[in-house]
Amino acid sequence: MAIRGGWMRGLLAAGAGVGALLLAGACSAQTAAAIPNAPPAAYASLGRDMLKGLVEIDSTHAHGSTGAARYLAARFLAAGFPAADVQVLAPPDHPTKGNLVVRLHGTGAGAPVMFLGHLDVVEAHRADWTYDPFAFTLVDGYAYGRGTEDMKSGDAAMAAALIRLRESGFKPSRDIIVAFTADEEAGGDASGIDWLLKTHRPLIDAGLVINPDGGEAALKDGRQLYLAIQTSEKVFATFRLEAHDKGGHSSRPTPANPIYHMAAALDRLSHYSFPVDLTPTTEAYFKARAGLETGQVRADMLEAATGHPSAAAVTRLSSQLDTNIALRTTCTATVINGGQGESALPEDVTALVQCRVMPNKPIADVEARLKSVIDDPAIAMSTYTAPKLSPESPLSPQVTQTVSAVAHSIWPGLIILPELSAGATDSAFTRAAGIPSYGVDGDFLSLDDSRAHGRDERVNLAAFDQDLEFTYRLMKALGSAN
Ligand SMILES: [Zn+2]
Repeated sequence: MAIRGGWMRGLLAAGAGVGALLLAGACSAQTAAAIPNAPPAAYASLGRDMLKGLVEIDSTHAHGSTGAARYLAARFLAAGFPAADVQVLAPPDHPTKGNLVVRLHGTGAGAPVMFLGHLDVVEAHRADWTYDPFAFTLVDGYAYGRGTEDMKSGDAAMAAALIRLRESGFKPSRDIIVAFTADEEAGGDASGIDWLLKTHRPLIDAGLVINPDGGEAALKDGRQLYLAIQTSEKVFATFRLEAHDKGGHSSRPTPANPIYHMAAALDRLSHYSFPVDLTPTTEAYFKARAGLETGQVRADMLEAATGHPSAAAVTRLSSQLDTNIALRTTCTATVINGGQGESALPEDVTALVQCRVMPNKPIADVEARLKSVIDDPAIAMSTYTAPKLSPESPLSPQVTQTVSAVAHSIWPGLIILPELSAGATDSAFTRAAGIPSYGVDGDFLSLDDSRAHGRDERVNLAAFDQDLEFTYRLMKALGSAN
């Protein structure tokens, strides 16, 4: 993922969650079996073994994901999947950017459900890490290595779940597809999901996508707070502003100075807030999130959940970063360049303004509002990075109820939180292709210690074991539905 889902790091009160996660060392399958709702020992071992195998394959942009795709393909073949249902596919012009698509056939009662995960990881430099990022190092109940959080643990959990379903003789009512793809992370140039949708659509066509990359299971102070169902992502769009003047000697200043024009325009932007723009997901989010809060904050969130919060509630919620970005589109200056010399009147000034737009909101509306805020004919505005539109997936009762039931079978009473992400994942592609897509992840991570893309990335082995079980139950439940 580009930015991991949650909006609320650090805001939630400690102790609001429903249960403590076992954090003690759990480095063997025997220990894993002592965890409530742990998977059978053989599948805990299988999951960890595949996680180890994946972490030890460097799948950064420079190396590509074909090695990881082939590694998992071999595991599926060894588990008895027919070769026709285990396909490694790479774009001919990017042979190192391989993808793996595996299918467990159902009775054909409904459109397939596809689980989606990316195989690539961001770079990691050995000198920055305590342990070798491309070794699988077990210390004090954690597994360290690049991708242990984002998202080879999710890949291993999906692979183990599908293998377990097949070995148990489970016959889904609809096909279950698991697609392991290339180039989700920044810097990639061969997005696997984009390429598969464009060139192999029948192979991955589905009625529903579950993407753990966009999900979030949140832990604070060792307590489980909530499990998110991500239905949507903000759309990003970048605009370029420019102002020009003929220049001249700085001893003869004029009001036409483009630095002043740009500074004034950006100052107006800094004081501007886009209108409140709640969606079905963010209304449901505030309703569920209120359950984690108390007092005025809780009351304000319950107002937001109605879709018509009072001005006072909006003001208070807007004063907090994490709730502000849930309320509305945001645009902010990210780059500015201008002037050419100490004693010269500036001739050119440019700035970039990046917007994170609520899904389903026409970009033309955002552009028009920006122009009215800038309100200066001396400043020209153009598109710098065009948006990749992706709609909000509807909060389907089937998905919500199934995810809730499976989560509660493992973590009774856990809050299920519908979520719009400010960042982006591969679900943007599947949503844009018309497939309702949901970010769901059962791997509880600390809100205060996310290490995705960072140094000493790690996964708690007890949490990983529970995610193995969660992923298996979710895959089975969704595979049983029509
Ligand atoms: Zn990711």
